Amino acid sequence: MNAGDTGALLRLQTEVLEAVACGTGLAAVADLLCRRAEALAPGVICSILTVDADGLLHPLAAPSLPQSYSSAIDRLQMGPKAGSCGTAAFRREPVVVCDIDTDPLWEDFRHLTQPLGLRACWSSPILDQDGQPVATFAFYYRTSRAPDDMERSIVQTCVHLCAIAIENDQVRERNHRLAYFDALTGLPNRGHFNGLLATSIARKERFGLLLVDIDHLKAVNDTVGHGFGDMLIRTIAERIAGSDPRLTACRLGGDEFAVLVADCRDAMDLGKAATAMLAAVRGPIKAGDQTLDPHITVGGALFGDDGADGASLCQNADFALYHAKEMRRGGYVRFSPDLRTSMLERVRMVRNLDQAMLEGRILPYYQPVVRLDTSEIIGVEALARMRMPDGRIAEASEFHAGLSDPRIAYQMTGQMLDQVARDVRAWLDLGMDFQHVGINVTTGDFQRGDLEQRIVDAFARTGVPLKHVVLEVNEAVYMSGIDQMVPKAVGALRQHGLLVALDDFGTGFASLTHLLSFPVDIIKIDRSFVNRLGDDRAGDVLVGAIIDIARKLDMRVVAEGIETPAQAALLDAFGCTLGQGYLFSRPASFEETTGLLRLFAQKRDPAAVQPRRSA
Ligand code: GH3
Ligand code: MG
Repeated sequence: MNAGDTGALLRLQTEVLEAVACGTGLAAVADLLCRRAEALAPGVICSILTVDADGLLHPLAAPSLPQSYSSAIDRLQMGPKAGSCGTAAFRREPVVVCDIDTDPLWEDFRHLTQPLGLRACWSSPILDQDGQPVATFAFYYRTSRAPDDMERSIVQTCVHLCAIAIENDQVRERNHRLAYFDALTGLPNRGHFNGLLATSIARKERFGLLLVDIDHLKAVNDTVGHGFGDMLIRTIAERIAGSDPRLTACRLGGDEFAVLVADCRDAMDLGKAATAMLAAVRGPIKAGDQTLDPHITVGGALFGDDGADGASLCQNADFALYHAKEMRRGGYVRFSPDLRTSMLERVRMVRNLDQAMLEGRILPYYQPVVRLDTSEIIGVEALARMRMPDGRIAEASEFHAGLSDPRIAYQMTGQMLDQVARDVRAWLDLGMDFQHVGINVTTGDFQRGDLEQRIVDAFARTGVPLKHVVLEVNEAVYMSGIDQMVPKAVGALRQHGLLVALDDFGTGFASLTHLLSFPVDIIKIDRSFVNRLGDDRAGDVLVGAIIDIARKLDMRVVAEGIETPAQAALLDAFGCTLGQGYLFSRPASFEETTGLLRLFAQKRDPAAVQPRRSA
């Protein structure tokens, strides 16, 4: 090679490396390389093909070949008889075919080369660092011949440059993937979502935003393992993304997804997309011998109506999701302005409750549970009250919103347990015929997994035997969670001798069949049934049936919210022996309750609730 050729080759090298360094795309770099190589070797036609992970060839650059030729060899499988390039990739070594018309390697392809007058082809594989073929670099000739020395030097340089350009492209692509896509699900990440949202807004598109949070993922991680949790996230991501072609699903982090719904005409359209997504996510997920039924909760907002810019749209969809998590878990809620109001109210309430707990202004009031036939008190239910700074006692309904915060609910239970334990100690010390105190617990109390210890400790500190305690578990709480988390915890608590009541029975999801398998001692019939007694034959029949079944299962029934003697008489006639309600007493302070117990506590305890024999 003379000095002029060496200089030209160096210039080619410099030009291509500069293009790579400047971030020029791989196809453009390859095109440049072909053109410069063809300029250095007159009469040569240059072609670069990539090889994918399945060994299929794809045209990358061939500026002097017709498009029809490149298209014809696209997706050609590399192999032992696949022309010069497919064979070179397969053998991982250069292949020189001096006469295409007679060489058996070209037998299946010469119909493509003959019309173009191509007679010879020399192809060199480009291998990655692991020695796998990633591309081929080929020279075609219009005469039957082998390459000369000059051409060998050009190809050596070009193969090297091509390898650099391809590796650089792979690194850039990996970096792009890491920067814009979530590694676990492959979905766009939060940063990418922000960009997509901004683009939709800038294009003035009609679109909706759905925010999704997986239900009870922490419990899945805790019970069946983090690996299963990851699989749940991945499967839900796939199901969401596949539920409607208009959706672009992104993973914001943790178990939260943002889904852009393109071409979303109105709120009804957004609701339909959300409903389809909820349906698509359902269906058991299996891993080994474990099976899970996945659930998500969705909040939605419509661009324009529910937010005129990205930040307010996201915030409002978040309000909707928050609300859905509390009120419609496993379902969909669309944003409305009153959600923001209730959220702010809740935040205010949480602050007030925090302050009240700090200042010791949370206290139990007690509502008697009485025998319907004699009106004797057989127990009390402890209900939380808040003493306001002006001394007024606030009912639970006034701070209920704040209790949906699991941290607050957990602390509240802790304070209630301590005070109730002290009050019961005081009644026992006064020599009262005190039997049971009911204590309400929430989902948050079960989720931490330490409820058993907290109850045992609180009553042990005051020396009150646990036979005096009835744990009141709301029906919705009882049925929540996965893997029967609450029934299992309840079963463990019953081993300590305390009794368990299923509260608000009939309002949620529990059915009579659940009573057969769940360990409870008492069923508390919700006030909504009691209110309807006498007005509605179907209601009467139902209450009668519940009482009958409960008795046959050795459970006691307490009717809640009794307000009239007629209701009490009817319940008594149905065989319900216990009740509570304004007819007998409103919830009252410790001092007032002490007075009531002195006067009306049942002296002997034939009707006292005994632990259920079965279950
Ligand atoms: P909720 O039903 O109220 O949504 O509660 P949750 O248990 O799903 O918990 P939350 O949504 O408040 O928080 C998400 C949890 O998901 C926190 C963390 O334990 C878990 N998590 C976050 N990222 C990952 C992940 O990449 N893999 C797994 N396995 N778990 C994750
Ligand atoms: Mg979650």
